[in-house]
Amino acid sequence: MIHQDDAAYWACPHGYDARDGCVSCFEESADPDPDSITWDVAVWFNSRRPIPVKALQDVHRHGNRFNLDKLSAPQIYLLTGQARAARGAQAVAGLIGFLLHNRHVVDEFTVQETRAVQISPSPEVPARDRVWP
Ligand SMILES: [Zn+2]
Repeated sequence: MIHQDDAAYWACPHGYDARDGCVSCFEESADPDPDSITWDVAVWFNSRRPIPVKALQDVHRHGNRFNLDKLSAPQIYLLTGQARAARGAQAVAGLIGFLLHNRHVVDEFTVQETRAVQISPSPEVPARDRVWP
């Protein structure tokens, strides 16, 4: 990845590294600018403690926009959801901000990988250029 170590590329509008998450980005994504881009975001992370099945289900019921799934590898989880934001960094920061906002579900976690795909407005750029990072 060419942008992997670029701090500006990963910075959310509040100055946080998107991979650390940002609660402000999460809160703003609930009330987005109508002109903002819709992203499909996926975040793979490790949880220090196993997340109870009930808590996984609660995320869906609660957030509605989000899904939290356990993968077959031990303590690896996948959080997916749609976020509206001007940039991929903001979309990713907002999704991880959801985890920060829900410490009762996930108390300590380490983000392994993130992916944001621009899904609307339908851009006239090749599909590979809509994937962030
Ligand atoms: Zn932010």
